[in-house]
Amino acid sequence: MKDQAGIYETLKAKLQNVLPDFEIAYKAEIAYKVLELKQKRRAVILGHAYMEPALYYSVCDFTGDSLELSRRAATTDAEVIVFCGVKFMAETAKVLNPKKTVLLPSLRAGCSLAESIAPKELEAIKARYPGVPVVSYINTYADIKALSDACCTSSNASEVIQAMNAPRVIFLPDAFLAANTAEELDKKISYAKKGAGQTVVFPDADDWEILGWQGSCEVHERFQPEDVKNLRAQFPDVAVLAHPECKPEVTALCDFVGSTSGMARYVAGSSKARFALLTECAMGENVQAANPTKEIVRLCAIRCPHMNAVSLEATLQALQQNRHEIDVPEPTRKRALGAIQRMLEVG
Ligand code: SF4
Repeated sequence: MKDQAGIYETLKAKLQNVLPDFEIAYKAEIAYKVLELKQKRRAVILGHAYMEPALYYSVCDFTGDSLELSRRAATTDAEVIVFCGVKFMAETAKVLNPKKTVLLPSLRAGCSLAESIAPKELEAIKARYPGVPVVSYINTYADIKALSDACCTSSNASEVIQAMNAPRVIFLPDAFLAANTAEELDKKISYAKKGAGQTVVFPDADDWEILGWQGSCEVHERFQPEDVKNLRAQFPDVAVLAHPECKPEVTALCDFVGSTSGMARYVAGSSKARFALLTECAMGENVQAANPTKEIVRLCAIRCPHMNAVSLEATLQALQQNRHEIDVPEPTRKRALGAIQRMLEVG
């Protein structure tokens, strides 16, 4: 393990164009304490692409998007998993590792998509359309996964829906991911939505092939077509990349649409010099640090408040105080596991 000076040098080499020096020095001190405790507790730290750069580049054993981290969580032999991401991700790790301690550094790390649908609402949809398979986005809580036939991420939504081998699929909760996926698969989409209380309002016509739900990501829903037009007017050579949780009228104007890992790979492999990422803004910093010869246009003041709650400081407290331990009731876990495994099998 590196000493504090070594961590500072590593962070400085990576982040000198991203963070001021005093912040790098301060974060290196905390990262050193996190690494010491990680070793002592035989822990593994998984870091989502939306984590702050100092955390992302100092203490994580594995980084990536939800799918990559789910795969890592499925194979780790560590005794403790610290999930530097949000609650639904830590729940997924617990579902895959019931005997291990899974820690989420902040209880404020929720998600507007995961909050958008309740089990009673999904039960009502299933009762209305019996036998229609349910694919739930990984950005759902375990009780929704437990009612689903399969999960998917933004990397593999189309593949999982096709793998259902059914004329109609219920795909929730993100309305925009569903619309972008329906477009890609050339399928007709309609939506169910929240009614009063936990009732559901169903579409008038039953001629859909994909039934979506009107949930959205509070970060990605904020990007507008004008943002893309303004970017192109100001930077004619820019490549604009969007996450599929953005509105279809936004993704239609972009050069590439894909998951966080897909966007990172696109930047690394492209011969272009300038990029704008329509996604959570910490990811722009992390991609900038990984590609110092390229320019990531700082469009962004859109920081996810849930991801922002997980800092290096919170990660240190999680290891020091064994908090916040994630638990999933066994019947729910078993059913959710089936849906997650189906996704992992599809690839
Ligand atoms: S960026 Fe959006 S989808 Fe991701 S955790 Fe935040 S609210 Fe949820």
